[in-house]
Amino acid sequence: MSAKILDGKILSHKIKIEIKIEAADFEKKTGRKAGLAVILAGNDAASAVYVKNKITACAETGVQSFEIKFNENVSESALIDEIERLNNDKNVDGILVQLPLPCHINEDAVLNKISYKKDVDGFSSVNAGNLMLGNPSLRPCTPSGVMELIKDSKADIAGKVAVIVGRSNTVGKPLMMMLLEKNATVIICHSKTKDLGNFTKMADILVVAAGKKHLITGNMLKDNAIVIDVGINSVDGKLYGDVDYYSSLKSAGFITPVPGGVGPMTIAMLLKNVLKAAQKYS
Ligand code: NDP
Repeated sequence: MSAKILDGKILSHKIKIEIKIEAADFEKKTGRKAGLAVILAGNDAASAVYVKNKITACAETGVQSFEIKFNENVSESALIDEIERLNNDKNVDGILVQLPLPCHINEDAVLNKISYKKDVDGFSSVNAGNLMLGNPSLRPCTPSGVMELIKDSKADIAGKVAVIVGRSNTVGKPLMMMLLEKNATVIICHSKTKDLGNFTKMADILVVAAGKKHLITGNMLKDNAIVIDVGINSVDGKLYGDVDYYSSLKSAGFITPVPGGVGPMTIAMLLKNVLKAAQKYS
């Protein structure tokens, strides 16, 4: 057996074509483009690349982007003032604060100032709470991208055992709710889980978001599993996932590559959220 590749580049490209059509339709109806404001504070090189990719994706799909840069020493109150200004700006439908923020800033305090109507990252308490309750909301982009990749495998999620490695508020926990909503039986593992392999071997669907290079190897998989690798680990200038791709190819049924799997999907889902916010709230 050799795993089929779930290609995030191809799938995100298809989704971006749909977004472009919706964005043009929105502009025709309202006389303005849907808009995304991206706030970058500090000089983190990786963050600058992520912001650049998001701005480029906006240009490709006909979404107006507004890039707002602050230096490393920016105060929390200056960031909050800017968010309040953007909350009231009618040309802005989505606000994204690129994380991490400089360490003297309380991230939660800043993120929770974003109006839930413009919270296209889906990290605010209101949107996280709505996801928990099964209500419509702006949902976090990376877990939404994972769900699209699973859908692309054409597998029926209902009744499957889904194991998530990682319980962050941005990936693991929201994904748990999304898989539960689709009637998977969900197991969530973390750094205190004993004998991780016992759990991963039960997984019909395995999603790994731990940030540990090659934490999962081929001998930890159930035959024919759908394996989604969220991890991005940069070692000596090269990117690796949390899953050892080559040792997993033999037993997995489907697998995502790193790079080119979840990463491009995250950006596509962000743009989808911008359009959703524009259509619903403006
Ligand atoms: P966090 O550091 O916030 O969370 C990591 C999670 O993994 C924690 O719950 C932690 O457990 C768990 N963990 C760590 N080590 C182990 C281990 N040895 N065994 C089992 N569980 C473990 O990370 P994020 O959720 O933000 O990101 C995870 C990875 O995904 C990173 O590599 C990140 O770069 C990548 N990422 C990729 C994105 C993309 O678009 N492709 C988007 C977002 C993230 P505990 O809670 O006990 O500490």
